[in-house]
Order: sequence, then C-alpha cells, then structure tokens
Amino acid sequence: MTDQLDALRAVLPDGRLSTDPDVMEAYRRDQTTVVTPGQPRCVVRAGSTRDVLVTLDWAQRHGVPVVPRGGGTSLAGGATAIDGCVVLSLERMDSIREVDPANELAVAEAGVLNADLDRAAAAHGLMYAPDPSSFEISTIGGNLATNAGGLRCVKYRVSRDAVLGLEVVLAGGRLLRTGRRTMKGVTGYDLTSLLVGSEGTLGIITSATLRLRPRPARYPPDRRGGLCRVRRGGQGGDRHPRRAAGAEPAGADGQRHPARYRRLEGDRLRRWRAGAADRPG
Ligand SMILES: Cc1cc2nc3c(=O)[nH]c(=O)nc-3n(C[C@H](O)[C@H](O)[C@H](O)COP(=O)(O)OP(=O)(O)OC[C@H]3O[C@@H](n4cnc5c(N)ncnc54)[C@H](O)[C@@H]3O)c2cc1C
Repeated sequence: MTDQLDALRAVLPDGRLSTDPDVMEAYRRDQTTVVTPGQPRCVVRAGSTRDVLVTLDWAQRHGVPVVPRGGGTSLAGGATAIDGCVVLSLERMDSIREVDPANELAVAEAGVLNADLDRAAAAHGLMYAPDPSSFEISTIGGNLATNAGGLRCVKYRVSRDAVLGLEVVLAGGRLLRTGRRTMKGVTGYDLTSLLVGSEGTLGIITSATLRLRPRPARYPPDRRGGLCRVRRGGQGGDRHPRRAAGAEPAGADGQRHPARYRRLEGDRLRRWRAGAADRPG
C-alpha cells in the first residue's frame, strides 16, 4: 500500500498528498451528523487540473475510491470519507480565471467560494445568482455538484441554470470539456446539465463557465436581507397587491412563504450560522 501511495506522491507536486492523521481527520467528515465517516488512505489537495488528472489515473489503476470535496458543507454525507478512499480536495483551486462583463460570464476554478465569485462580479455591476445559505463557505464545484440553490432561486432558479460549461476530469484521468460560452447553445447532448447535481459520481469538476447577471440596483451590496428589500420594494411596504392584502396563498407545506422568508432573514439566521440558535423555519 505504501508503494502505491509513493507512486502517487511521485507524480504530484510536493505537499499535495498527506497521510498526516490530523490532516486526514480534518478532511474525513462534512457537516452531516447522521453518517459515520470512514478512514481515508490519504488526502490530496489538488492545486491544478493536472493534479486531479494524475490522481484519478492512479486511483483507477489501483482500484481506489475517490471522494471529491469542496468546502465540506454538505448536509447529506456526500463529502464524507469512506474507508480506504482518497479524499480529493479542490479547495486550493480557487482562482477566478476570467470575468467577462461584456458577455456576462465568468470562468472559475472549482474551489472558488461562491461569495468570492459574487464579489468579483459585483465589481462589474454583475452578480452570481445562486445563493445557498452556505455561500460564504461553500465552493463553486460543490455548489454545481449538488445543484445548490438559495432564496434567490425564486427568481433566478438554481446552480444548473447558471452554468454554461464545465471542465471535468473523468474516472481514469480523462479530461472532458462541456458546454459553451454563449447564452444560446442548442445542439448536441446536454452533458453540462447531466453533470450538474451528480455529486462527483460522473466526474470531478475542475472549473466552470458561469453565467452572470446584471446586479439589480435595489439589492444591497451585502446579500443578507436582499429578499426582504425586494419583497418590500425597498420602501418599507409590500407592493405586491395580493400579499399587501394578506391573500398570499399557503405553499404545499401549508406555510405562507413571505412569513418564512421573514424568519429566515435577519437575526435568527445569523445566530444559527454562529451556532447560537436553533435551525430557522
Ligand atoms: C449553514 C449551511 C447552509 C446551507 N444552505 C444551503 C442552501 O441554502 N441550499 C443548498 O442547496 N444547500 C445548502 N447547504 C448545503 C451545502 O452547503 C451545499 O450542498 C453546497 O453546495 C456544498 O458545497 P461544498 O463546496 O461545501 O461541497 P462539499 O460539501 O465539499 O461536497 C458536496 C458534494 O459535492 C461533491 N463535490 C464537491 N466538489 C466537487 C467537484 N469539484 N466535482 C465533483 N463533485 C464535487 C462531493 O463529493 C459531495 O458529494 C447548506 C449547508 C450549510 C452547512
């Protein structure tokens, strides 16, 4: 087993592969509490697409399972290690390769934090719309692998609707590029959509071409409270006629959603994030 790991270490830059017990402990669990993590064989912290290529090539030749990992914020156990696996962390691949304001797109590596991409877009009057509540600590790769979405999905939909193309490494270390850079792209199989939401089972996302949108003037630069401002038209009152009249229909879960949004925003969400309150609504 040591010989096998030495072979992988030899093709990776120094410091990328670790078998340090403290490092492996830090990378073997995500935010899930109901899944017991296994013991990984090693952790590889990829710094480039090539690191991912050589790791998947090595893993296939030796029959070793690979668990890709972004920010480790999964609540479903997807980034939890299994016994004998390689945990392949993408967090060091955190470069925003390009922001193209004219074409309203960005190219970001998998380890870029959602919030960092949105901040880079804001400098051009644009925004990256998908906003899982973990936006400050989750990665673009993880967001796409889980098809994450947050409150803004009501208007802008979810991660799948914000991705134009992907760079993906397949099992065995083969590189695949899918999609396009244009808003319109109608020919051929839609492999991009297939890969989004596949949680690493079909390949490992190393970078993505993402759609940006004009940043609404009424949104505060800080996303917290954004929905509240839109809902109230930024003027302290709800301008939607049915909601203003109290006639907002209850959702399938029997809740009146504006009330749920009110609970989600504000102090309670902040206190939940800080661990000082129960999970909101
Ligand atoms: C406080 C909190 C709030 C949250 N709010 C939301 C929310 O509003 N909406 C929502 O949808 N989710 C939410 N989540 C869940 C979680 O943040 C999302 O699923 C997020 O998209 C995971 O991103 P990550 O970078 O942490 O990925 P990880 O947790 O590291 O990985 C998630 C899954 O994707 C795979 N994966 C990771 N990176 C890659 C890659 N580059 N290529 C292929 N597969 C990969 C992993 O193997 C795993 O299966 C929340 C979690 C927390 C802790």
